[in-house]
Amino acid sequence: METLEHELRCHPFVGDLEPAYLTLLSGLARNVEFAAGAFLFREGGRADRCYLLREGRVALEIATMARGHIIVQTLGAGEVAGFSWLLDRTSGSSTRGPSSRSGPSPWTATPCAPNARTTRGSGSSSCAASPTWRPAGSSPPGSGSSTYTGPLMQPRTEAARAQQPWLDRELWRVTATRRESHDTVTLELEPPAGRTFSFRPGQFNTLYAFGVGEVPISVSGDPEAPGPVRHTIRDMGAVTDALCARQPGQEVGVRGPYGTHWPVAEAEGGDVVVVAGGVGMPPMRSAFYHLIAHRDRYRRIVLLYGARTPADLLYPDELSSWRGRFDLDVQVTVDTAAGDWRGGVGVVPDLIGSAPFDPAATTAFMVGPEVMMRFTTRALTRAGVPDERIFLSAERNMHCAAAMCGHCQIGPFFVCRDGPVFSYRALGPWLRRREA
Ligand SMILES: Cc1cc2nc3c(=O)[nH]c(=O)nc-3n(C[C@H](O)[C@H](O)[C@H](O)COP(=O)(O)OP(=O)(O)OC[C@H]3O[C@@H](n4cnc5c(N)ncnc54)[C@H](O)[C@@H]3O)c2cc1C
Repeated sequence: METLEHELRCHPFVGDLEPAYLTLLSGLARNVEFAAGAFLFREGGRADRCYLLREGRVALEIATMARGHIIVQTLGAGEVAGFSWLLDRTSGSSTRGPSSRSGPSPWTATPCAPNARTTRGSGSSSCAASPTWRPAGSSPPGSGSSTYTGPLMQPRTEAARAQQPWLDRELWRVTATRRESHDTVTLELEPPAGRTFSFRPGQFNTLYAFGVGEVPISVSGDPEAPGPVRHTIRDMGAVTDALCARQPGQEVGVRGPYGTHWPVAEAEGGDVVVVAGGVGMPPMRSAFYHLIAHRDRYRRIVLLYGARTPADLLYPDELSSWRGRFDLDVQVTVDTAAGDWRGGVGVVPDLIGSAPFDPAATTAFMVGPEVMMRFTTRALTRAGVPDERIFLSAERNMHCAAAMCGHCQIGPFFVCRDGPVFSYRALGPWLRRREA
């Protein structure tokens, strides 16, 4: 029977370590065997060990919006599963041992063992039990005293990225959460150090809950404010449920910003009517922040917002501060109300008739359920707003995000490729066709 130290010496990833460190490592390692189909660990879980593969094969799998669960790489004997344990994302390089941050990084893929036998490295995240595999002074050539860009690691990540461009999502940290309603949460997300993020009002990011999936979510914050990036998410299904459960300090995979934006520059000099229904308020809020920040560029600014009940209204504090301003016209309505609700009851399109705007000099932005948008566009066009000055965000359920599957197709348009913001002149004929 071979000793663990001998097995480690035969493994390409650690075989060249000095004997003292091999001895240390063998005291921390153990042999484990996985049955075919078993998972070594799950993406997004606590990255607190790595696996040196001795026999068999391991498939690395990630969940994507574009393709569902996909295998990004297959590993064999002599390779390593569990690079997240070694990666220090704050510097973009790798460390041998857990990151110096407060806790371990999450796994960034889910390895499944068709048939694998591994030797496990350090099984603890505490410093005492974490081997410093190469101390200062004995680092591999070209690396710093405590960092290591290993010969196996770099080709692995680069090859995977070259094969799968959609892997280029970043890990953003949740800095704060805010419950907006019984089913809606705002996540404040901080991009990685050194990354500057900017977006146009109406654009979206894709947010990825590890091991569950990826969904498009609009950026709901102020486009000109520095600091964490806000996304307001309604819990609709598996992915949004996992995102709404994120806590400060945890990470979310982010790609973006994507998509067309509200034409705030083209609207300058005239009236602007902003219409939002339900969870349509978050993508509209970024536009409204812009309009307020550049108040002198517009004539009348009107916000018409509707929700199912008073409890479903998002951002009530902001709404009341906007309602208190003499230079904004804000009207809020709910479908049904009981008790002490003193606001309007009714549907949003009904607010158009009494809203103060000059139709011939108005640009309208709207987002919400499709039935709301159909009736609102009808009311706007009847009032005399030209089709080409009405814009809507079509937040159809995306699936492939590559203009192929047709889930988000409206006539010749794919929301994932051509949207989400469209002019009514372009989209209207196709929306009207759905009414027949
Ligand atoms: C460009 C864009 C921007 C978006 N911005 C936001 C946002 O800021 N905040 C937010 O909460 N949501 C937003 N959404 C909707 C969000 O992406 C979906 O709610 C999410 O994809 C649902 O995924 P899930 O796995 O949680 O639920 P699933 O299980 O996929 O869906 C749950 C239920 O919701 C329905 N559904 C899913 N997506 C949509 C959709 N887009 N429109 C209508 N019904 C849908 C499904 O048919 C199903 O009945 C946006 C969508 C798009 C396309």
